[in-house]
Amino acid sequence: MKSIYLDNAATTPLDSRVLEKMQPYFSDVFGNPSSFHAAGLAAKKGVDAARKSIAALMNAHADELVFCSGGTESDNLAILGLVRTNKAKVKHVITSAIEHPAVLELLTHLQKAGEIELTILSVDKFGLVDVRELEKALRPETILVSIMYANNEIGTIEPIADMGRALLKWRKTHNTPFPYFHTDACQAAGVLDLDVEKLHVDLLTLNGSKIYGPKGVGLLFVRRGVEIEPIIYGGGQERGLRSGTENVPGIVGLAAALEIAQAEKEKENVRLTKLRDKLTAGLLKIKKTKLNGHATERLPNNVNISFLDVEGEAAVLYLDAQGIYCSTGSACASGSLDPSHVILAIGLPYEAAHGSLRFTLGHSTKPADIDYVLKVVPDVMAKLRHMSPVNLDMKYFK
Ligand SMILES: *Cc1c(COP(=O)(O)O)cnc(C)c1O
Repeated sequence: MKSIYLDNAATTPLDSRVLEKMQPYFSDVFGNPSSFHAAGLAAKKGVDAARKSIAALMNAHADELVFCSGGTESDNLAILGLVRTNKAKVKHVITSAIEHPAVLELLTHLQKAGEIELTILSVDKFGLVDVRELEKALRPETILVSIMYANNEIGTIEPIADMGRALLKWRKTHNTPFPYFHTDACQAAGVLDLDVEKLHVDLLTLNGSKIYGPKGVGLLFVRRGVEIEPIIYGGGQERGLRSGTENVPGIVGLAAALEIAQAEKEKENVRLTKLRDKLTAGLLKIKKTKLNGHATERLPNNVNISFLDVEGEAAVLYLDAQGIYCSTGSACASGSLDPSHVILAIGLPYEAAHGSLRFTLGHSTKPADIDYVLKVVPDVMAKLRHMSPVNLDMKYFK
């Protein structure tokens, strides 16, 4: 039985080289990094080395990194931490319509609770945020802009550096340190440049589970001078910003994964882009299909296609039976049958949003896998369409 894993945007397998680096920290080097004895110091050394190495990769300082439990916590720490620190009467936040729920759910919750005023920028049909729209939305009360680096569903890469420059200009002309700029880089961390100086970001989120590192570990970059409050209180680890005993193997693994990804990304991106484009072209030969996201400003491993007249969940199950693992919408949203907020945000109607499938390639993807997928998917779609009572018009895709 074949098993072709094309859901690397949901999570990636742990790289064996990363596992090797982590292994001693589960058993031999088990101390608490806060302990003063040799066992504690050995663990602390592992955490310190990881912090230093990641900081170098991001062109940041070691004291600007806060390790935590993953992308969700990092996003929450950035946003809640900043909103709660700020004592202004009116706090305005700007985000986009296609953010991960870790950002969007929190911000809409804060808006409903009356803690912030929120502007949600729409995106164009490719999923791009317009820098001029961002500039127009800026207000003297804007304390934070949170826009993701690359989208987890449609793979669109946002012009983060351009936005960063626009925000710097605004701060300068208005003589204020605000708004701060946060980006969720969970999907970008394994394949794009993470230089925080070039990106002009003040807060950056990434995690291990999308970059062939361990799950349950992430970090928040907090630029020196940016004041945020903790959201978890306790023993004062991570300079008081994230209490709780450090996930030492996880932190060591996160650093190892990031080192490997950043060193190998150029070569791997070229390889994946070729496979991605072949899969896209092949799938678009099936009638009544449309590529979602941008053709080129796109993650090298992401293919997201709407198949009209097809129920996405049914397609995932049929493909699963053939040993092909993909997803509909995002894994985080699955379990619910609501159509993806991202697909709706790029202007597709409800019916078309239901039939969108995401194939995300990875290190294990080989050319033969793409051939197999291109052999199987047309048959599955023909079968599902034959069974489908709906028959939508192509005008939905115009
Ligand atoms: C996966 C993901 C998250 C959540 O990360 P966890 O480590 O699962 O909490 C947040 N943002 C984006 C863009 C993601 O892809």
